[in-house]
Amino acid sequence: MMYQFEADFPELCDVFSIGTTNEGRELLVARITDNVSQSEGEPEFLYTSTMHGDETTGYVLMLRYIDYLLNGYGTNARLTNLVDEIDIYINPLANPDGTYHGGNSSIYGAIRFNAMGVDLNRNYPDPEDGPHPDGNAWQTETVHFMNFAEEHNFVMSANMHGGTEVCNYPWDTWSTLAADNNWWVYVCREYADTVHANAPGGYMTGYNNGITNGYQWYSIAGGRQDYMNYFHQCREFTLEISDVKLIPASQLPAHWNYNYRSFLNYMEQCLFGVRGKITDSASGDAITAEVFVLNHESDSSWVYSSLPGGNYHRLLFESFYSIRYSKSGYYSQTFDNVIVHDREATVQDVELVKIMFDIDEPLAETFSIYPNPVSGNYLKLKANQSVGDITIYSMNGELCHKSNTGGTNTAFVDVSKLNAGTYIIKIVLDGKLVQQKMIRH
Ligand SMILES: [Zn+2]
Repeated sequence: MMYQFEADFPELCDVFSIGTTNEGRELLVARITDNVSQSEGEPEFLYTSTMHGDETTGYVLMLRYIDYLLNGYGTNARLTNLVDEIDIYINPLANPDGTYHGGNSSIYGAIRFNAMGVDLNRNYPDPEDGPHPDGNAWQTETVHFMNFAEEHNFVMSANMHGGTEVCNYPWDTWSTLAADNNWWVYVCREYADTVHANAPGGYMTGYNNGITNGYQWYSIAGGRQDYMNYFHQCREFTLEISDVKLIPASQLPAHWNYNYRSFLNYMEQCLFGVRGKITDSASGDAITAEVFVLNHESDSSWVYSSLPGGNYHRLLFESFYSIRYSKSGYYSQTFDNVIVHDREATVQDVELVKIMFDIDEPLAETFSIYPNPVSGNYLKLKANQSVGDITIYSMNGELCHKSNTGGTNTAFVDVSKLNAGTYIIKIVLDGKLVQQKMIRH
């Protein structure tokens, strides 16, 4: 069925596998955009469902959502605009081994876990509890999704489940509210209120009338929502879409009708907030730079522009903000009184000027660490080649941390024992010592 979408709409839809499960099933993703053959600097958006194999409602609704977007393109102005302006990725089934546990011809016998008996929504690196919060190795599905997230720059996503009906927003792992808590309440409120206008009384009305902060509901570690928010600066929430996990087929059309307008509203939000392109003032080339809202950011909430387009997307609740744009080797720029209105985009393109004789961090491009400043117990280090030893020194030159990645490019570094302050993190790449400044909050 997924490949049939591509066959029917080759100009709009590309279906691909991000990897194979233990039992040999493909993890399929449909990419939908107006020009599937190239990346255009549009925001990337992800819907994914059913990482718990027996929570199947979202799986079917996402298949229908793909069909709805493709068939509406060119005739429905709103759908056409969304497909034109957003690089949309939809993964209807994130745990096919769990869903088809009873055999490929039926979802009866579906289970929550993957084929190895692991709960995939406890298997991700956690900002508080580290790379393996559940004590299990990363499962095949987890590795494929982590690689998929690394290869993309998802601005927003939602992760669909079942068993209750609520929009669950970050954080799950700790009680601290997200820097953008008011934005989260606003987009989740919009989701639930739109559902209420189109559903019978009692659907998605529990908790705080259909929305909840994750930790206030119940704390989990190793969930994908917090992983995406903290380690990828992607706004992901957990959408619990039906009280009954495996609803009868006859109820699926009604659930579609309750939710599809909200699917559109939420996805559309990735077009708003402050957005633009960041370029080198001399060459005009797109660059990756940090976009930091002053007196606002915390816990990895700031974002970066991405290549090839140099585009960034800082989603914000309506207000005035001061925003600093910075990159190692460039003079930073701050714009004050940037105004944000709900459901509107504020476009702020930025040209950063290179520092001609910069001796501060000439090799910073070879690896990145984030979040920096780091507030959680872990930071992610990502290099352009395999890394061995990682050392962290205080500004007095005292060795505070030493670990070894075992030769991977990406590592989750435990900084929980470091006091607040400024440090130097050092790694050896290609026989050369490279270092960056790191701040621990
Ligand atoms: Zn679930």
